[in-house]
Amino acid sequence: MEKQGNIRIASENMMPIIKKWLYSEKDIFLREIVANASDAIIKLKKLVDLGETRSDGHYKIIVTTDEKARTLTVEDNGIGMTEEEVERYITQVAFSGAADFVEKYEKTNGDGIIGHFGLGFYSAYMVSENIEIFTKSYREGSAGVHWSSDGNSTYTIGDCDKETRGTKIVMHLASEEKEFARDGEIRKLLDKYCSFMPCEIYLNPKGGEEDKPVNTTAPLYLKQPNDCTEEEYKSFYRETFRDFNEPLFWIHLNMDYPFRLKGILFFPKVKKQVDLERGQVKLYCNQVYIADNIKEAIPEFLMLLNGIIDCPDIPLNVSRSFLQNDTQVQKISRHITKKVADKLAELFRKDRAKYEACWADLSTFVKYGCLKDDDFYDKVKDIIIFKNIAGEYKELPTYFGEPVGEEEAKKGAQPKAVYYASDEKKQAQYIAMFRQAGLDAIICDEFIDPHFVSYVEYRNPTRVRFLRIDADVDAALKVKGVDGEDKFIETIFSERLEGKKIRVKTERFINPSVPAIINVSEFMRRMQEMNEFYSMGDSGSDVTLVVNTANPAVIALKEASEDQRKVVVQQIYFTAFMSYKPLAPEEFEEFTANTSVLLEKYLQK
Ligand code: ADP
Repeated sequence: MEKQGNIRIASENMMPIIKKWLYSEKDIFLREIVANASDAIIKLKKLVDLGETRSDGHYKIIVTTDEKARTLTVEDNGIGMTEEEVERYITQVAFSGAADFVEKYEKTNGDGIIGHFGLGFYSAYMVSENIEIFTKSYREGSAGVHWSSDGNSTYTIGDCDKETRGTKIVMHLASEEKEFARDGEIRKLLDKYCSFMPCEIYLNPKGGEEDKPVNTTAPLYLKQPNDCTEEEYKSFYRETFRDFNEPLFWIHLNMDYPFRLKGILFFPKVKKQVDLERGQVKLYCNQVYIADNIKEAIPEFLMLLNGIIDCPDIPLNVSRSFLQNDTQVQKISRHITKKVADKLAELFRKDRAKYEACWADLSTFVKYGCLKDDDFYDKVKDIIIFKNIAGEYKELPTYFGEPVGEEEAKKGAQPKAVYYASDEKKQAQYIAMFRQAGLDAIICDEFIDPHFVSYVEYRNPTRVRFLRIDADVDAALKVKGVDGEDKFIETIFSERLEGKKIRVKTERFINPSVPAIINVSEFMRRMQEMNEFYSMGDSGSDVTLVVNTANPAVIALKEASEDQRKVVVQQIYFTAFMSYKPLAPEEFEEFTANTSVLLEKYLQK
């Protein structure tokens, strides 16, 4: 006998809200229905564990699509519902069935299996014009129950012949939603939302040996890190992210306190800026997929990684804007950051060789993290390493100097200068000169480095300043304690280089074989780079030709004829300039002509 009734909540109010809220992610209804089925099975398992009922033990969820009938069916062999429970949990949505269950069984076995999403069963009405429930409770002597409703205000409920325990939800799809009756579409959605759900899910099984669940019920991230092998991590990565490049390394998160959080973060190889936009951190809640890259819960810079994070304690039945202000969510985010820093520090301490080998790929991520999050910098600053021109890695703080006090600063004292090369090939001459002089410089050739060195200066204003290797070479290369200035030579050069937009300076170098080099003011160069970055045009740079008064050719210019001076000064200028950057085409012509004259004169002798 069928009864009729009115759905107690004002569904005319509710459906539009649900539909509007979910409009953009309509397909999550499948997750809700399958998650309910999975919860029902877990509840049953628990009752079996508690000895309250028995079961044959093969728990499964069967999903079937029927294009002709335009239906999608989800069937489980879980706890099932009595008629009274259907009334209470389905019809009177206001009462959460979970609340009852938790009250009764939660205390005995602390697992949280509360319906997390709050949208639940009714979200299926986004795609269905009618839904039928066939269910039979695990309770002894229960009859099968049939419930049916179009999701508006009326429903019918009554007995039915259902042999087996569990629930079958038949969704009669709206005509414009018929895609959800297609095997391919549902397979895709199950893969997206349900691939780690804890109960086996079969899609359109044929009933035989060849049927395989579409999901992995015990994903690797749930295992204890000590029990996982390298091969397992790699294949988990491949399968989950469909990336056939091996991850560099990974961090397995596993904690129960102060909240529950499990997951694996994989570090992919990052070479170019575009790679940074490819990260994907999937957030799960009790093995149910929620969304990708939820920035409220996962620190922004971690989105560069590929990862899975499963956090049952994230409140998900609230809107995103609420998440932003939720202190629990902020704590989780901070905790993930801390864990990542800890793991990096652990690798640094335990396996320095591997750390160094990975560093080229890791560093972009670490530096980006610092730029985005001061706390992260504080946690990792001691394990940031820089390769120097001798090819050794040293920690960032070892390059710092003693802090310059306020008084000293007033007298003109400057923080310690650290020289860096941004391009080993282009700056080869400068690097060679540094090596000869026994001076150190670090290699900073990543696209993120210009930003990062500025950040380090900003965080350590009294201890360090960075100068590109071509910025101020006289301070590094000149013979200390000797006044290398020579006004006469300076004039010889500046007069003949008039119109070249370059300043001339003289200095005595340790190495006499180099006639001159180019210096570019660090400040002006950074300004210029910034302008280029923001496309604000050319701010001009401050370029100086530093002439070496220890060089024999330079010295010989003092006694040379006007003709000789002209050709030699030009040649010295061009050669120095080319080790700084390529000549403009018209200058290159001048250079070729000048070289020709020089060779001719040389051979005349
Ligand atoms: P939530 O899952 O958030 O509690 P739902 O509207 O999805 O909200 O479901 C309401 C209740 O209906 C569930 O808590 C559960 O008690 C019951 N229910 C739904 N689906 C099933 C099912 N497949 N088997 C048993 N009970 C179910």
